[in-house]
Amino acid sequence: MPLPYPATYYAQTLTETRARPALQGVVEADVIVVGAGLAGLVTALELARGGLKPVVIEARAVGWGASGRNGGIVSPAFACGSDAIAARVGHDKARALHKLTIEGVARVRGYINDLGITGADPISGLLNLRRFDRADDLHAYAAEFAEDFGYELTYLDRAAIRERLVSTRYFHGLADAQAFHIHPLNYVRGLAAEFERRGGRIFENSPATQAQFTAAEKRIKTAQGEARAPRVVFATGGYTDGLVPRLKRAVLPIATYMMVSEVAPDLIASAIRTTEAILDDRRASDYYRVIEGGNRLLWGGRITTRAASSEGVAQELRREMIGAYPQLASLKTELSWSGQMGYARHLMPQVGAMAPQTWHITAFGGHGLNTTAIAGKVLAESILGETDRLNLFSGFGLDWAGGPLGLAAAQATYWKLQLQDWWRER
Ligand SMILES: Cc1cc2nc3c(=O)[nH]c(=O)nc-3n(C[C@H](O)[C@H](O)[C@H](O)COP(=O)(O)OP(=O)(O)OC[C@H]3O[C@@H](n4cnc5c(N)ncnc54)[C@H](O)[C@@H]3O)c2cc1C
Repeated sequence: MPLPYPATYYAQTLTETRARPALQGVVEADVIVVGAGLAGLVTALELARGGLKPVVIEARAVGWGASGRNGGIVSPAFACGSDAIAARVGHDKARALHKLTIEGVARVRGYINDLGITGADPISGLLNLRRFDRADDLHAYAAEFAEDFGYELTYLDRAAIRERLVSTRYFHGLADAQAFHIHPLNYVRGLAAEFERRGGRIFENSPATQAQFTAAEKRIKTAQGEARAPRVVFATGGYTDGLVPRLKRAVLPIATYMMVSEVAPDLIASAIRTTEAILDDRRASDYYRVIEGGNRLLWGGRITTRAASSEGVAQELRREMIGAYPQLASLKTELSWSGQMGYARHLMPQVGAMAPQTWHITAFGGHGLNTTAIAGKVLAESILGETDRLNLFSGFGLDWAGGPLGLAAAQATYWKLQLQDWWRER
């Protein structure tokens, strides 16, 4: 049976295509993990490394959600800005949380290298670029980063940017040599394979329809089976459904979009002459990178709170691309797709215990590659009784996200940010 992935560039370039069985009958385990995205799989893998025998139950397929469709950019930070984090939990905790995100970047690289994940193809370098002419705060930011975290960011002026990008859009930038970009679906499938090699089991095509977690024995039911264990972890991301109403109330599903170009290395090189990923520092940012050694361009951006046609949004992405690089007007878009991110109202991941021996790990927003790698590890450490680092997330609980009003507010905020971007760049 073909894997049930949506049509994405990543699904078309998988290095392995093994399908897993659906859950049937009763299965016993040490831990049940619901959701085989990065949050669920990192947690499950680290629990297996710690000696437990988890099972993972996935509605569709490994990495079917945001984890297998994203921009692939692995860099420090959370979706929530550091000032907002500090405002909620204070500077010391905010700094400790930021350190975790740097560790998360290193962990992704470690997984790929140590496990020899083929097809994840890490490529180093990220340029954070500014579309208006002001740089004093960038210098200050880089200096603070070096002092607080020993993390080097290199300032780029217009000439340095022009050596890499043939565009008049960008004025200043920071280059991050430790950040990198990957093929996310091959990465997540590599983690799944390692989890299974350590004795873990994954069931695909198995939407969990009922969750009983008040008794000592937790039970998760699917159409044809039931998993039982003394512990359960919910890792359902932006696809969180009504399985656990409290979780659904706490997570806003926000769609975002990507497109990939045709093969056109010469045309692309007339605009982009670096393999580094590029992220503009708009509040409603665009991000892009060349792939296949410069053969194609992958471009992402935009959010909507209601499902929109990815072809329609791709037209907007194309307008952005051509605005920055008029020479790419004839570059054809071969495929576009969307994916859902999970956002909490406070914009931080929600990682913690919601009931005895029952945990959640969701809401990584648009910054999930590094943060799932560290949050899953920290959650596993807590479940295994190894550390109390999980407490760092305790200030970011399962606040009610506001339902339809929360979605409307998120869309309004996004439009406001777009307007502010336009005003700064006018
Ligand atoms: C287009 C796009 C671009 C992005 N770009 C980047 C980027 O460049 N860098 C970055 O760091 N982050 C990026 N992100 C964000 C990142 O992809 C996510 O934050 C991260 O993948 C979230 O992982 P997750 O495991 O929480 O969720 P998901 O990967 O969505 O996994 C949740 C899983 O739970 C399953 N599930 C849900 N309900 C049930 C149920 N009842 N029973 C069984 N299974 C269930 C779903 O099928 C799904 O597979 C991007 C996201 C998108 C959509």
